[in-house]
Amino acid sequence: MPLLQKLRTTTPKLCPSSFSTQHSTNKTDLPVTADSDSYTNALRDIPVTLYHGNPVNAVKHLSGDVYTIHTATGRYGVERNEKLHQEGVNFVQGDGLRRVENTRDGWSDAIQDYLYGEPYTHDSSAITILDSDVSIEWIEDEYDIEPDKKRVPTGGRQAALKQLHDFADSPEYWGYVSEPTREHGLSKLGPYLRFGCLSIREAFQYLQEHLDGQDKNAITSRLHWNLHYQQKLLDWAGWMDKAVNPALRDMGTFDQEKWDRFKEGETGYPMVDAAVRQLKGTGWCNFRNRAMLASFHSNLLELPWTIGANWMYYHLIDADPAINYTQWQSQTSRVGTNLYRIYNPRKQVRDRDEAADFIREWIPALQELPEKYLDQPEKTPVAIQNKCGVIIGEDYPMPLVEYEAALSRVKRELEQREADAKEALQQDAVRERASLSARSRQYEPDIEALKKTRTTSLDSYTTYSLYLFKTFLYNRCIPIVRDVK
Ligand SMILES: Cc1cc2nc3c(=O)[nH]c(=O)nc-3n(C[C@H](O)[C@H](O)[C@H](O)COP(=O)(O)OP(=O)(O)OC[C@H]3O[C@@H](n4cnc5c(N)ncnc54)[C@H](O)[C@@H]3O)c2cc1C
Repeated sequence: MPLLQKLRTTTPKLCPSSFSTQHSTNKTDLPVTADSDSYTNALRDIPVTLYHGNPVNAVKHLSGDVYTIHTATGRYGVERNEKLHQEGVNFVQGDGLRRVENTRDGWSDAIQDYLYGEPYTHDSSAITILDSDVSIEWIEDEYDIEPDKKRVPTGGRQAALKQLHDFADSPEYWGYVSEPTREHGLSKLGPYLRFGCLSIREAFQYLQEHLDGQDKNAITSRLHWNLHYQQKLLDWAGWMDKAVNPALRDMGTFDQEKWDRFKEGETGYPMVDAAVRQLKGTGWCNFRNRAMLASFHSNLLELPWTIGANWMYYHLIDADPAINYTQWQSQTSRVGTNLYRIYNPRKQVRDRDEAADFIREWIPALQELPEKYLDQPEKTPVAIQNKCGVIIGEDYPMPLVEYEAALSRVKRELEQREADAKEALQQDAVRERASLSARSRQYEPDIEALKKTRTTSLDSYTTYSLYLFKTFLYNRCIPIVRDVK
């Protein structure tokens, strides 16, 4: 049974999952904590109480008012929030997102107010301790979980601040952001933002102040994109399950062999296989490789996009439903704009300076294959295969699909659907959902004006409470959805 479903159907102990329980007398109290000795260093950093079971039952055990954050979510999260709301739980906002009928009205202003507002600081003496028998060790035993990822960053608030400061001190960002092997100099802020160790506003303000030029522009626009996609999921929870464009909804057919070889990193396309192995091994890969994997999976292998999106979400250490599923739709032509943008996995090898190192790191079988054949190992002359001792078809697989044939197939299918997809984009609801990042591209804040109108809101409160179960999820790499491995 998938872990989430298990958590959902287990009633006696109480469930932390992604909701926060806070016993507070006013809105600015922070999440409460159990005995921190039983937790990892990361959890000691910001103490939390863990519960297990159905969250609706959990809140019944708490006295006083209960506040939780209102993050963008889908699937089970929507149902959970509705039930908690009915139980009287208060949902706290303060993240700049719009929760009104027409969220586009005043969106940029709301985001600017948020980003330039005064970050919330907390009074740790307000924290009270709740009893709970649930510890990380208990959950590991209960679900027979063992960490299976290496090089996972340390979780927690202190580690988040260090990462932010180190990045700002010596960024190697602009110009390197697409290099697949690059481990240093990138922001690597994803998991900290996702799990609430750092608020987007804090990161934004710090980087505005400490960076300049293209590094500053690139990273701060990405923080805008994050908010943009949070709003998208808040507006329509369907992003996680349904292609935005109805004309592109039923594309893809499940094929066991393709699926198995894709998720094992055995497709015969070195860049794809290296990226899959990096993702599974570390929980991270860069934007370009995420996009290439999505495009390869759903366009060239013609597998249903949701299966791949769930799989990537499962493995990402910064898995964020608002970004992952919208990006998957966007990169797999399910939106209807950029219909024919399909990544060429061979070209990705030729384009990137560090591609050969990256491939050799993750696919030891190709270590001795000369660099010029790494984009298409199956084209290596037999004499060279024998000489370097890498036999394609034995040491490394032949391509799972032939690129040109697969590309023609998907293009034909898209051409057949193009007229309907364009028509669907004329519908108000589809058009609004499909306008992916136009707003953030247009965004040009008036920084001086904004600095004069700083406001206080609850972002740290919000993000701290997200910290609950997830810090240790990301520290220990506990599988969230077990059946997509
Ligand atoms: C198919 C696919 C799935 C993705 N899934 C996720 C996900 O689950 N979680 C996630 O945080 N990012 C996701 N991204 C976006 C991006 O790839 C990662 O944010 C980035 O690679 C993480 O590296 P970093 O922490 O060094 O962030 P940086 O590249 O330094 O960016 C800093 C922060 O900006 C935000 N950001 C960056 N790129 C984007 C983007 N395109 N859209 C929205 N916000 C962005 C993130 O919060 C990120 O942590 C996905 C991209 C693709 C193509």
